[in-house]
Amino acid sequence: MTKTFKIAVFDGDGIGPEIMHPTVALLKTLAAASADYDFVFETVPAGAAHYAKHGESLPAASLAMARTADAILLSAMGLPSVRYEDGTEISPQIEIRKALNLYAGVRPVRIVPGQPTPLALRGQEPVDFVLIRESTEGLFHSQGTRDVREDAEAYETLKITRETSEKLFRFAFKLAQSRKAAGRGNGRVTCVDKANVFAAFAFFRKIFDEEAARHPDLTSDHAYVDATALWMVEKPWAFDVMVTENMFGDILSDLGAGLMGGLGLAPSADIGDDHAVFQPCHGSAPDIAGDGIANPFAMILSAAMMLDWLGAAHGVDAMARDGVRLREAVEAAITDRNDVTRDLGGTASTAEAAAAIAARLS
Ligand code: ATP
Ligand code: MG
Repeated sequence: MTKTFKIAVFDGDGIGPEIMHPTVALLKTLAAASADYDFVFETVPAGAAHYAKHGESLPAASLAMARTADAILLSAMGLPSVRYEDGTEISPQIEIRKALNLYAGVRPVRIVPGQPTPLALRGQEPVDFVLIRESTEGLFHSQGTRDVREDAEAYETLKITRETSEKLFRFAFKLAQSRKAAGRGNGRVTCVDKANVFAAFAFFRKIFDEEAARHPDLTSDHAYVDATALWMVEKPWAFDVMVTENMFGDILSDLGAGLMGGLGLAPSADIGDDHAVFQPCHGSAPDIAGDGIANPFAMILSAAMMLDWLGAAHGVDAMARDGVRLREAVEAAITDRNDVTRDLGGTASTAEAAAAIAARLS
Protein backbone atom coordinates (compact mmCIF):
# COMPACT_ATOMS: atom_id res chain seq x y z
CA MET A 1 0.00 0.00 0.00
CA THR A 2 1.21 3.49 -0.81
CA LYS A 3 1.94 5.78 2.11
CA THR A 4 1.58 9.47 1.34
CA PHE A 5 3.69 12.04 3.17
CA LYS A 6 3.00 15.73 3.42
CA ILE A 7 6.14 17.82 3.00
CA ALA A 8 6.34 21.52 3.88
CA VAL A 9 8.71 23.29 1.50
CA PHE A 10 10.44 26.55 2.43
CA ASP A 11 11.96 27.86 -0.80
CA GLY A 12 13.70 30.62 1.10
CA ASP A 13 15.92 33.42 -0.14
CA GLY A 14 18.79 33.90 -2.58
CA ILE A 15 19.72 30.63 -4.27
CA GLY A 16 17.05 28.86 -2.16
CA PRO A 17 14.43 28.38 -4.91
CA GLU A 18 17.14 27.47 -7.46
CA ILE A 19 18.34 24.50 -5.42
CA MET A 20 14.95 23.55 -4.00
CA HIS A 21 13.06 23.16 -7.29
CA PRO A 22 15.34 20.49 -8.81
CA THR A 23 15.47 18.70 -5.44
CA VAL A 24 11.69 18.47 -5.22
CA ALA A 25 11.65 17.29 -8.86
CA LEU A 26 14.05 14.45 -7.97
CA LEU A 27 11.90 13.44 -5.01
CA LYS A 28 8.83 13.40 -7.26
CA THR A 29 10.65 11.17 -9.75
CA LEU A 30 11.66 8.72 -7.02
CA ALA A 31 8.14 8.65 -5.56
CA ALA A 32 6.57 8.16 -8.99
CA ALA A 33 8.70 5.06 -9.51
CA SER A 34 7.75 3.58 -6.12
CA ALA A 35 4.56 1.76 -5.23
CA ASP A 36 5.32 2.20 -1.53
CA TYR A 37 5.32 5.93 -0.96
CA ASP A 38 4.22 9.24 -2.39
CA PHE A 39 4.53 12.93 -1.50
CA VAL A 40 2.32 15.95 -1.35
CA PHE A 41 4.50 19.08 -1.39
CA GLU A 42 3.22 22.37 -0.01
CA THR A 43 5.34 25.45 -0.54
CA VAL A 44 5.08 27.93 2.32
CA PRO A 45 6.46 31.46 2.52
CA ALA A 46 9.06 32.70 5.02
CA GLY A 47 12.40 34.46 4.95
CA ALA A 48 14.05 37.80 4.34
CA ALA A 49 12.38 38.66 1.03
CA HIS A 50 9.01 37.86 2.57
CA TYR A 51 9.86 40.06 5.57
CA ALA A 52 10.85 42.95 3.31
CA LYS A 53 7.48 42.75 1.53
CA HIS A 54 5.08 41.80 4.30
CA GLY A 55 6.81 42.72 7.57
CA GLU A 56 6.97 39.18 8.94
CA SER A 57 9.71 36.61 8.47
CA LEU A 58 7.84 33.51 9.58
CA PRO A 59 4.07 33.83 9.06
CA ALA A 60 2.03 31.97 11.69
CA ALA A 61 0.23 30.12 8.89
CA SER A 62 3.55 28.84 7.51
CA LEU A 63 4.65 27.56 10.91
CA ALA A 64 1.23 26.02 11.50
CA MET A 65 1.42 24.21 8.16
CA ALA A 66 4.95 23.01 8.93
CA ARG A 67 3.67 21.61 12.23
CA THR A 68 1.16 19.41 10.43
CA ALA A 69 3.68 18.17 7.84
CA ASP A 70 5.46 14.81 8.07
CA ALA A 71 8.75 16.53 7.28
CA ILE A 72 10.07 19.95 6.35
CA LEU A 73 12.44 20.84 3.54
CA LEU A 74 14.20 24.16 3.85
CA SER A 75 16.77 25.68 1.53
CA ALA A 76 18.27 28.84 3.04
CA MET A 77 16.88 32.01 4.54
CA GLY A 78 18.26 35.44 5.20
CA LEU A 79 19.79 38.24 3.14
CA PRO A 80 22.46 40.64 4.37
CA SER A 81 20.43 43.56 3.01
CA VAL A 82 17.31 42.73 5.03
CA ARG A 83 17.53 43.04 8.80
CA TYR A 84 15.30 43.30 11.84
CA GLU A 85 15.16 46.66 13.54
CA ASP A 86 17.88 45.70 16.06
CA GLY A 87 20.26 45.02 13.17
CA THR A 88 20.29 41.19 13.40
CA GLU A 89 19.69 39.10 10.30
CA ILE A 90 16.40 37.41 9.61
CA SER A 91 16.66 33.77 10.72
CA PRO A 92 13.28 32.00 10.71
CA GLN A 93 15.14 28.68 10.58
CA ILE A 94 16.23 29.30 14.19
CA GLU A 95 12.66 30.19 15.16
CA ILE A 96 11.43 26.96 13.56
CA ARG A 97 14.07 24.96 15.45
CA LYS A 98 12.86 26.49 18.71
CA ALA A 99 9.14 26.27 17.96
CA LEU A 100 9.30 22.59 16.98
CA ASN A 101 11.91 21.69 19.63
CA LEU A 102 14.40 20.24 17.15
CA TYR A 103 17.12 19.39 19.63
CA ALA A 104 19.33 17.14 17.49
CA GLY A 105 21.26 18.91 14.72
CA VAL A 106 22.66 16.12 12.57
CA ARG A 107 25.66 17.01 10.38
CA PRO A 108 27.18 14.11 8.45
CA VAL A 109 30.79 14.57 7.37
CA ARG A 110 31.93 12.34 4.52
CA ILE A 111 34.86 12.75 2.23
CA VAL A 112 33.79 11.52 -1.17
CA PRO A 113 36.59 9.88 -3.20
CA GLY A 114 37.76 12.22 -5.95
CA GLN A 115 36.66 15.39 -4.21
CA PRO A 116 39.63 17.72 -3.58
CA THR A 117 39.82 18.61 0.10
CA PRO A 118 42.19 20.76 2.16
CA LEU A 119 43.66 17.66 3.81
CA ALA A 120 46.13 15.46 2.03
CA LEU A 121 44.69 12.30 3.55
CA ARG A 122 47.48 9.93 4.34
CA GLY A 123 45.39 6.91 5.09
CA GLN A 124 43.14 4.88 2.90
CA GLU A 125 40.58 5.03 5.65
CA PRO A 126 37.30 6.62 4.66
CA VAL A 127 36.21 9.74 6.50
CA ASP A 128 32.57 9.15 7.40
CA PHE A 129 31.26 10.47 10.70
CA VAL A 130 28.26 12.32 12.04
CA LEU A 131 28.34 15.31 14.32
CA ILE A 132 25.25 15.84 16.44
CA ARG A 133 24.83 19.35 17.72
CA GLU A 134 22.33 20.02 20.49
CA SER A 135 20.28 22.81 18.96
CA THR A 136 17.92 24.29 21.55
CA GLU A 137 19.98 25.21 24.63
CA GLY A 138 23.69 25.29 25.54
CA LEU A 139 25.43 28.61 24.96
CA PHE A 140 22.71 29.79 22.58
CA HIS A 141 20.16 29.62 25.34
CA SER A 142 20.14 33.28 26.27
CA GLN A 143 20.24 34.42 22.63
CA GLY A 144 18.05 37.47 22.18
CA THR A 145 18.06 38.43 25.86
CA ARG A 146 20.69 41.07 26.19
CA ASP A 147 22.68 41.33 29.40
CA VAL A 148 25.18 44.07 28.75
CA ARG A 149 25.73 46.19 31.86
CA GLU A 150 26.59 49.83 31.42
CA ASP A 151 28.84 49.13 28.50
CA ALA A 152 31.26 47.45 30.95
CA GLU A 153 30.19 43.80 31.34
CA ALA A 154 28.28 41.30 29.24
CA TYR A 155 26.90 37.90 30.26
CA GLU A 156 25.50 34.80 28.57
CA THR A 157 24.16 31.70 30.28
CA LEU A 158 25.13 28.14 29.41
CA LYS A 159 22.10 25.94 29.91
CA ILE A 160 22.22 22.15 30.05
CA THR A 161 19.10 20.25 31.07
CA ARG A 162 18.76 16.60 31.95
CA GLU A 163 15.61 16.27 29.84
CA THR A 164 17.12 17.53 26.59
CA SER A 165 20.50 15.87 27.18
CA GLU A 166 18.88 12.48 27.78
CA LYS A 167 16.96 12.76 24.52
CA LEU A 168 20.05 13.96 22.69
CA PHE A 169 22.24 11.09 23.90
CA ARG A 170 19.51 8.51 23.28
CA PHE A 171 19.36 9.83 19.72
CA ALA A 172 23.16 9.64 19.33
CA PHE A 173 23.43 6.05 20.52
CA LYS A 174 20.50 5.00 18.38
CA LEU A 175 22.18 6.53 15.36
CA ALA A 176 25.46 4.75 16.12
CA GLN A 177 23.53 1.51 16.41
CA SER A 178 21.83 1.90 13.05
CA ARG A 179 25.07 2.96 11.37
CA LYS A 180 26.79 -0.10 12.80
CA ALA A 181 23.95 -2.32 11.55
CA ALA A 182 24.36 -0.76 8.09
CA GLY A 183 28.11 -1.50 8.12
CA ARG A 184 29.12 2.15 8.48
CA GLY A 185 31.14 3.43 11.40
CA ASN A 186 32.62 1.42 14.22
CA GLY A 187 29.82 1.75 16.74
CA ARG A 188 31.49 4.50 18.71
CA VAL A 189 29.92 7.55 20.31
CA THR A 190 32.11 10.41 21.48
CA CYS A 191 30.87 13.05 23.90
CA VAL A 192 32.60 16.35 23.09
CA ASP A 193 32.69 18.78 26.00
CA LYS A 194 34.86 20.86 28.29
CA ALA A 195 34.16 18.94 31.48
CA ASN A 196 37.55 19.77 32.93
CA VAL A 197 36.60 23.43 33.30
CA PHE A 198 32.81 23.83 33.42
CA ALA A 199 30.39 22.24 35.86
CA ALA A 200 27.67 22.37 33.21
CA PHE A 201 29.79 20.15 30.95
CA ALA A 202 30.59 17.77 33.80
CA PHE A 203 26.81 17.41 34.18
CA PHE A 204 26.46 16.92 30.41
CA ARG A 205 29.11 14.19 30.54
CA LYS A 206 27.49 12.49 33.54
CA ILE A 207 24.19 12.17 31.65
CA PHE A 208 26.11 10.88 28.62
CA ASP A 209 27.73 8.17 30.78
CA GLU A 210 24.34 7.10 32.08
CA GLU A 211 23.09 6.56 28.54
CA ALA A 212 26.37 4.90 27.50
CA ALA A 213 25.88 2.32 30.27
CA ARG A 214 22.67 1.22 28.52
CA HIS A 215 24.62 0.34 25.35
CA PRO A 216 27.25 -2.27 26.16
CA ASP A 217 27.25 -3.23 22.46
CA LEU A 218 28.65 0.20 21.52
CA THR A 219 31.87 1.96 22.45
CA SER A 220 31.71 5.34 24.13
CA ASP A 221 34.32 7.89 25.03
CA HIS A 222 34.84 11.58 25.79
CA ALA A 223 36.95 14.28 24.21
CA TYR A 224 37.57 17.90 25.08
CA VAL A 225 36.41 20.24 22.38
CA ASP A 226 39.85 21.78 21.79
CA ALA A 227 41.47 18.38 21.30
CA THR A 228 38.56 17.40 19.08
CA ALA A 229 39.28 20.29 16.72
CA LEU A 230 42.85 19.00 16.43
CA TRP A 231 41.82 15.38 15.90
CA MET A 232 39.20 16.28 13.29
CA VAL A 233 42.12 17.51 11.19
CA GLU A 234 44.74 14.94 12.27
CA LYS A 235 42.68 11.77 12.15
CA PRO A 236 39.12 12.46 11.02
CA TRP A 237 38.62 8.80 10.09
CA ALA A 238 38.72 7.83 13.77
CA PHE A 239 35.30 9.36 14.54
CA ASP A 240 31.91 7.74 14.13
CA VAL A 241 29.17 9.59 16.02
CA MET A 242 30.09 12.75 17.95
CA VAL A 243 27.63 14.53 20.18
CA THR A 244 28.09 17.98 21.65
CA GLU A 245 26.61 21.21 22.97
CA ASN A 246 25.10 23.90 20.73
CA MET A 247 28.00 26.38 20.37
CA PHE A 248 30.71 23.71 20.13
CA GLY A 249 28.60 21.95 17.51
CA ASP A 250 28.15 25.19 15.59
CA ILE A 251 31.89 25.64 15.32
CA LEU A 252 32.86 22.01 14.73
CA SER A 253 30.25 21.53 12.03
CA ASP A 254 31.83 24.29 9.96
CA LEU A 255 35.15 22.56 10.45
CA GLY A 256 33.44 19.39 9.26
CA ALA A 257 32.09 21.12 6.15
CA GLY A 258 35.60 22.42 5.47
CA LEU A 259 37.02 18.89 5.72
CA MET A 260 34.55 17.69 3.10
CA GLY A 261 35.85 20.17 0.57
CA GLY A 262 33.02 22.61 0.33
CA LEU A 263 29.96 24.18 1.80
CA GLY A 264 27.98 23.09 -1.27
CA LEU A 265 28.38 19.46 -0.18
CA ALA A 266 27.31 19.65 3.45
CA PRO A 267 23.77 18.51 4.28
CA SER A 268 22.02 18.66 7.65
CA ALA A 269 18.93 17.61 9.54
CA ASP A 270 17.39 19.16 12.64
CA ILE A 271 15.40 16.49 14.40
CA GLY A 272 13.01 16.52 17.36
CA ASP A 273 10.53 14.02 18.76
CA ASP A 274 7.75 14.82 16.31
CA HIS A 275 9.23 17.02 13.59
CA ALA A 276 12.31 17.36 11.44
CA VAL A 277 13.79 19.97 9.12
CA PHE A 278 16.21 19.02 6.34
CA GLN A 279 18.39 21.79 4.95
CA PRO A 280 21.89 22.36 3.56
CA CYS A 281 24.52 23.81 5.92
CA HIS A 282 25.18 26.76 3.62
CA GLY A 283 23.36 30.07 3.50
CA SER A 284 21.42 31.81 0.75
CA ALA A 285 24.57 32.78 -1.24
CA PRO A 286 23.17 36.14 -2.44
CA ASP A 287 26.40 36.76 -4.40
CA ILE A 288 25.44 34.09 -6.96
CA ALA A 289 21.65 34.13 -6.66
CA GLY A 290 19.88 34.17 -10.02
CA ASP A 291 22.97 33.08 -11.95
CA GLY A 292 21.92 29.43 -12.23
CA ILE A 293 25.29 28.20 -10.96
CA ALA A 294 24.47 27.27 -7.35
CA ASN A 295 25.50 23.79 -6.30
CA PRO A 296 22.32 21.78 -5.59
CA PHE A 297 24.14 18.81 -4.01
CA ALA A 298 23.92 19.84 -0.33
CA MET A 299 20.18 20.37 -0.76
CA ILE A 300 19.78 17.03 -2.56
CA LEU A 301 21.83 15.25 0.13
CA SER A 302 19.58 16.84 2.75
CA ALA A 303 16.58 15.43 0.88
CA ALA A 304 18.28 12.02 0.96
CA MET A 305 18.49 12.36 4.75
CA MET A 306 14.76 13.09 4.76
CA LEU A 307 14.10 9.85 2.88
CA ASP A 308 16.25 7.95 5.41
CA TRP A 309 14.48 9.51 8.35
CA LEU A 310 10.90 9.16 7.05
CA GLY A 311 11.60 5.64 5.83
CA ALA A 312 12.97 4.56 9.21
CA ALA A 313 10.32 6.38 11.24
CA HIS A 314 7.41 4.94 9.24
CA GLY A 315 8.86 1.56 8.36
CA VAL A 316 8.91 2.26 4.62
CA ASP A 317 12.04 0.37 3.60
CA ALA A 318 11.79 1.35 -0.07
CA MET A 319 12.01 4.97 0.93
CA ALA A 320 15.10 4.48 3.09
CA ARG A 321 16.66 2.55 0.20
CA ASP A 322 15.91 5.45 -2.14
CA GLY A 323 17.64 7.76 0.34
CA VAL A 324 20.78 5.65 -0.01
CA ARG A 325 20.42 5.58 -3.83
CA LEU A 326 20.05 9.34 -3.96
CA ARG A 327 23.14 9.90 -1.79
CA GLU A 328 25.14 7.39 -3.83
CA ALA A 329 24.10 9.10 -7.07
CA VAL A 330 25.39 12.44 -5.78
CA GLU A 331 28.62 10.87 -4.56
CA ALA A 332 29.16 9.15 -7.90
CA ALA A 333 28.69 12.49 -9.68
CA ILE A 334 31.23 14.10 -7.35
CA THR A 335 33.76 11.33 -7.96
CA ASP A 336 33.15 11.46 -11.71
CA ARG A 337 33.64 15.27 -11.74
CA ASN A 338 31.91 15.78 -15.10
CA ASP A 339 28.72 17.27 -13.72
CA VAL A 340 29.86 19.39 -10.81
CA THR A 341 29.29 23.11 -10.40
CA ARG A 342 31.90 25.86 -10.27
CA ASP A 343 32.36 25.87 -6.49
CA LEU A 344 33.67 22.31 -6.85
CA GLY A 345 35.88 23.19 -9.79
CA GLY A 346 33.50 22.12 -12.56
CA THR A 347 31.49 23.98 -15.16
CA ALA A 348 27.99 22.53 -14.76
CA SER A 349 25.00 24.76 -14.12
CA THR A 350 22.57 24.00 -11.29
CA ALA A 351 20.20 22.40 -13.81
CA GLU A 352 22.93 20.29 -15.41
CA ALA A 353 24.22 19.05 -12.04
CA ALA A 354 20.68 18.09 -10.99
CA ALA A 355 19.96 16.46 -14.37
CA ALA A 356 23.08 14.31 -13.92
CA ILE A 357 21.66 12.98 -10.66
CA ALA A 358 18.31 12.22 -12.31
CA ALA A 359 20.15 10.36 -15.09
CA ARG A 360 22.06 8.27 -12.55
CA LEU A 361 18.85 7.31 -10.81
CA SER A 362 17.04 6.09 -13.89
P1 ATP B 1 24.62 32.25 6.49
O1 ATP B 1 24.92 33.28 7.49
O2 ATP B 1 23.20 32.19 6.06
O3 ATP B 1 25.20 30.91 6.85
P2 ATP B 1 26.93 32.93 5.00
O4 ATP B 1 27.21 34.38 5.07
O5 ATP B 1 27.68 32.03 5.90
O6 ATP B 1 25.39 32.71 5.16
P3 ATP B 1 26.65 31.54 2.49
O7 ATP B 1 25.38 32.05 1.96
O8 ATP B 1 26.65 30.15 2.99
O9 ATP B 1 27.24 32.55 3.53
O10 ATP B 1 27.78 31.70 1.36
C1 ATP B 1 29.17 31.67 1.64
C2 ATP B 1 29.91 31.53 0.30
O11 ATP B 1 29.72 30.20 -0.21
C3 ATP B 1 29.42 32.48 -0.77
O12 ATP B 1 30.47 32.91 -1.56
C4 ATP B 1 28.46 31.62 -1.57
O13 ATP B 1 28.36 32.02 -2.91
C5 ATP B 1 29.08 30.25 -1.45
N1 ATP B 1 28.03 29.21 -1.49
C6 ATP B 1 27.18 28.88 -0.49
N2 ATP B 1 26.33 27.92 -0.87
C7 ATP B 1 26.64 27.63 -2.15
C8 ATP B 1 26.13 26.70 -3.11
N3 ATP B 1 25.10 25.88 -2.84
N4 ATP B 1 26.68 26.68 -4.34
C9 ATP B 1 27.72 27.48 -4.64
N5 ATP B 1 28.25 28.36 -3.79
C10 ATP B 1 27.73 28.44 -2.55
MG1 MG C 1 27.18 30.77 7.57
